[in-house]
Amino acid sequence: MKKFPMPSMPNSASPSGSHYTNLFKCCAFKFYLRHVRGWKTPKTSSPLLNGSAFHYAKAVFYATGSPNEALKALSRFLVSVWKEYETEEERSLASIRLPFMISSWIEKFGNNDLKRYTFLEIEKEHRVILFGGFSFTLRLDALVRDRESNLIILETKTSSWRPELAELEVFNGDQATAYIACVSELYKTKLSKIYLLPDICSWPKKSTKTAQINNYRGELVRRDANAIEEWKIGTSNELAEISQKVEALKEHSEYALFRRNTFYCTAWARPCEYINVCRQRIAKDSIPYGFKEDLDLPDLFPKKGKAK
Ligand code: SF4
Repeated sequence: MKKFPMPSMPNSASPSGSHYTNLFKCCAFKFYLRHVRGWKTPKTSSPLLNGSAFHYAKAVFYATGSPNEALKALSRFLVSVWKEYETEEERSLASIRLPFMISSWIEKFGNNDLKRYTFLEIEKEHRVILFGGFSFTLRLDALVRDRESNLIILETKTSSWRPELAELEVFNGDQATAYIACVSELYKTKLSKIYLLPDICSWPKKSTKTAQINNYRGELVRRDANAIEEWKIGTSNELAEISQKVEALKEHSEYALFRRNTFYCTAWARPCEYINVCRQRIAKDSIPYGFKEDLDLPDLFPKKGKAK
């Protein structure tokens, strides 16, 4: 097997990837507070932290082939984000549950993947240049080649819901389209030879009964040229809209440009982290108590590069 360097610990999401456009679509005002004003809460939601921990351990397993190294990586990651968990209960559940989750995933899928596929890349970041010169970044969990020379993107989701729902989300989602578009571009490969293979490691929330862990591998996902074109046009338009709004802030009020979507305030059965400050008129150079500044505006403006 090709030797891979030890994956580095994740410290941020992909710089201008789907989480920016998704957040903008969910609540433009939240996007403004987080990415334009740069208000970041010191805490992170536990599903996000747990997902990152799992993915880091998974990447280390693929790179080293060692379940032990994967468990050590998991523990390093948890130590590094210890203070970011919102509650003591979430923190201790993560330290109990995650080692079981990654171990069961390795046993069910990880070991076989290493035997079955030729690995081409693990957690590598890519940038795709879209129409108008806008760029979009993404990071694949892993890209492999099978014996028939198909390229397969291996993508894992962690979930506390029914795995079929997570599979449906991947099957219909833009993320799979973006990944397949990127691989086709970078590896100059026909769409008919590229697949995304989703797997879901699901365990009911708060359960510590290991018999309830369900590692589920879904159907292969494919995309045709129309889907790729539609995604590229749609994403370019979204990035252009965000970029124009950020530019228009020089002359117009943020309240008119970035609209609140109050349907999103309690999405995922938890209050939005900005719910207590969303309606306060806080001076532009101030940061509300409890937040820290982390200017994290994506690369919205066109870069030099050919639109593809
Ligand atoms: S509290 Fe609601 S309206 Fe305000 S930023 Fe959050 S989701 Fe948007």
